[in-house]
Amino acid sequence: MDFDFSEEQKMFKEAIRDFAQKEVAPIVKEAEEKETAPVDLFSKLGKLGYLCPAYPPQYGGGGLGKIGDCILVEELARVCSGITSGIMVQSGLSTFPILAHGTKEQKQEFLIPATRGEKIAAYGLTEPNAGSDAAAVETTAKRDGNYYIVNGSKIYITNGQICDFVTIAASTDKSKGSRGISTIIVDKSTSGFTVNKMKKLGHHSAATGELAFDNCHVPVDNLIGEEGKGYRYMLEALNGARISHSARSLGTAQAAFDASLNYAKQRIQFGQPIGKFQAISFKLARMAAEIEAARWLLYRVAWLYDQGNECRKEAPMTKVFSSEMAIRTAEEAMRIHAGAGYLAESTIDRYFRDAILFHTTEGTTEIQELVIARELGL
Ligand SMILES: Cc1cc2nc3c(=O)[nH]c(=O)nc-3n(C[C@H](O)[C@H](O)[C@H](O)COP(=O)(O)OP(=O)(O)OC[C@H]3O[C@@H](n4cnc5c(N)ncnc54)[C@H](O)[C@@H]3O)c2cc1C
Repeated sequence: MDFDFSEEQKMFKEAIRDFAQKEVAPIVKEAEEKETAPVDLFSKLGKLGYLCPAYPPQYGGGGLGKIGDCILVEELARVCSGITSGIMVQSGLSTFPILAHGTKEQKQEFLIPATRGEKIAAYGLTEPNAGSDAAAVETTAKRDGNYYIVNGSKIYITNGQICDFVTIAASTDKSKGSRGISTIIVDKSTSGFTVNKMKKLGHHSAATGELAFDNCHVPVDNLIGEEGKGYRYMLEALNGARISHSARSLGTAQAAFDASLNYAKQRIQFGQPIGKFQAISFKLARMAAEIEAARWLLYRVAWLYDQGNECRKEAPMTKVFSSEMAIRTAEEAMRIHAGAGYLAESTIDRYFRDAILFHTTEGTTEIQELVIARELGL
């Protein structure tokens, strides 16, 4: 057993930490306040070859596997989970179906520009009537000669307003249910494709959009893989993304913990630092233990994934553990900071608002538990 990162992984971690401090930290406040996703970061990360660390170098990736992706996401999330969201969707969910099942031409036109940060990608599965029940998608793609005519809508789509293309699930044959769903790439320039911004409780520096498709003519060449296999492709991407999502929870929890430990040493009440009170020190001890457990669960699952294991049980396990851990940690951070945490500029308020989302994205906690239970034969 080897519990250490390789030299290459250590260097990558250091490089991303440095990038996060120099390029991300200074822009967080403005991006959060103005509720804008900093699009320049995609090309900055892309130029350095850091944007899609998991993908093979031949497609502009870093060849560092899922562990590399988790390093990227964890380090960025220590600085800002909102900004990390868009990058995370780019480096996994939205591009993975093209990597895994796309044609040479699709890789050239969409995947490589995305890994270089020249094009921004989104992943469109969720709809008003298809959330946890993702197979219930109502968006249709009807074949008409060399085009699919796409009609429908998608909600809560990360990178929605800033994307150049979106990888969507649409029904090409309603009579077949989930086996009639296909994955199709819709270019932003397609006539009839519009996006509206959705306002949120947290993750203000992430673009979240509602997409509408009104008789969009999409070339049949934009079909990924085979017709009717799209639901499987979307879930496959989602399963891998659950591992990266856990890295985002971990990074956010680490940031909330670091701030709390520091505060517990500085804040004096009753003549001593509050960290000297057992009630506070035990909270910090528990937070530290849970973060440690989440970190090793995450990197072990990422390692398993890189060995070719599908991680159908392990990916939801790490997702459910790390997201619930981050929510608990952010709440404890708020209690430790008390009044100072509740203030809008404290950053503790941001960790708190951001962490609560982790229950929901990439499948809710309840859905993860359902998948784990099924894998256990229940
Ligand atoms: C900020 C943000 C960004 C997002 N980004 C994207 C994106 O980029 N692309 C995308 O496609 N989607 C995205 N989503 C959508 C996200 O994946 C969904 O919100 C999530 O899957 C849950 O769906 P829902 O919100 O419709 O909740 P619902 O499915 O309506 O669930 C409501 C509640 O019921 C519970 N529930 C539902 N079914 C069951 C069941 N069978 N057993 C037990 N409990 C159940 C759920 O766990 C939840 O607690 C995003 C969402 C948000 C908020």
